[in-house]
Amino acid sequence: MSPTSVSQVQSPDRSSRSAHHSGKTAVAVELGTVKPLLGASLAELTEWVQQQGQPAYRGKQLYQWIYEKGARSISDISVFSKQWRETVANVSIGRSTIHFRSVAPDDTVKYLLKLADGQIIETVGIPTEKRLTVCVSAQVGCAMGCDFCATGKGGFKRNLAKHEIVDQILTVQQDFGRRVSNIVFMGMGEPLLNADNVVEAVKCLNQDVGIGQRNITISTVGIRDRIRQLAEHQLQVTLAVSLHASNQRLREQLIPSARPYPLDELIAECREYVKLTGRRLSFEYILLAGVNDLPEHAAELANHLRGFQCHVNLIPYNPIQEADYKRPNPQRIKAFVDVLEKKKIAVSVRYSRGLEADAACGQLRASKA
Ligand code: SAH
Ligand code: SF4
Repeated sequence: MSPTSVSQVQSPDRSSRSAHHSGKTAVAVELGTVKPLLGASLAELTEWVQQQGQPAYRGKQLYQWIYEKGARSISDISVFSKQWRETVANVSIGRSTIHFRSVAPDDTVKYLLKLADGQIIETVGIPTEKRLTVCVSAQVGCAMGCDFCATGKGGFKRNLAKHEIVDQILTVQQDFGRRVSNIVFMGMGEPLLNADNVVEAVKCLNQDVGIGQRNITISTVGIRDRIRQLAEHQLQVTLAVSLHASNQRLREQLIPSARPYPLDELIAECREYVKLTGRRLSFEYILLAGVNDLPEHAAELANHLRGFQCHVNLIPYNPIQEADYKRPNPQRIKAFVDVLEKKKIAVSVRYSRGLEADAACGQLRASKA
């Protein structure tokens, strides 16, 4: 999963441009057969319609129907002739269907989406007055096995394709009837274990759906070398690194997959990311009562982050059925915050929204799929 492999479909004379924006590509040949149309650029769709014997302007129409009008199948596209729609009726746009939808009292909407092969993923739409944030999944399940995470407890099925990531945003946008402003890769799965598709999806969301890269956050548990590789793409996204512990022993206990990757090395790679990209980086730290929420943990964490221009997000644990951790009380949370602030570390507490709708990662899927 090297960063260069993202560009497999580039032709050599366009090596400095992304596959997504290149003109004549192998992608257009695969469209409609191997690949659904969603995820393709304007140039690729134009090339594809021409291969089908249609005039080039049909490509622009197809592009607008897919990304702006949210067409779910070619038969929806009324500007195309009936005859041609019938000819390509079996070409898939690649949209999911809503398998289950639940609304929390704070208007957060949690979806279970069914993919073409019947797999189910979670997506969440989180509205405020000014923003509509989508929490997207990067994989079906997750192989990392974190002890506090419902997705981790359910095991790994497969990576999501680029169009399956993009679809989640279009689905929430259509269901809410308003534009998505922000995206966080904090749903199911580990984005950096599906980095090629995640990077391509980010480019598509930026160029074709119109979401600023600065409004996109990728959350990772930290996979050796992958943070550095992500930096090479020079995306303008924000990186969030799930730390959850102030020392390696504790971290391994909570995140079994952290065993081969010492905390010091992870933090060093994070510092390098900031240097290489000039972008902000935040650390996520889930608070588990009596496990990692003591003032001495806060002090230890502050030591690791000394001189690091970063932000720490504390996430009070959302109870899941498969684990018996507890959420710390507000005094404990405040004491943790105080220690970090005294050490001049920027910190905020982030309560998950929509707790009533099985908000913890992977929880809805475990109960309703
Ligand atoms: N795999 C990536 C992204 C998905 S998880 C990662 O781990 O960063 C996104 C966030 O959900 C992580 O910060 C994770 O710690 C948090 N999370 C998982 N289970 C949770 C729970 N039970 N309560 C609160 N946050 C949880
Ligand atoms: Fe995977 Fe993230 Fe859940 Fe850990 S917290 S199991 S890395 S989804």
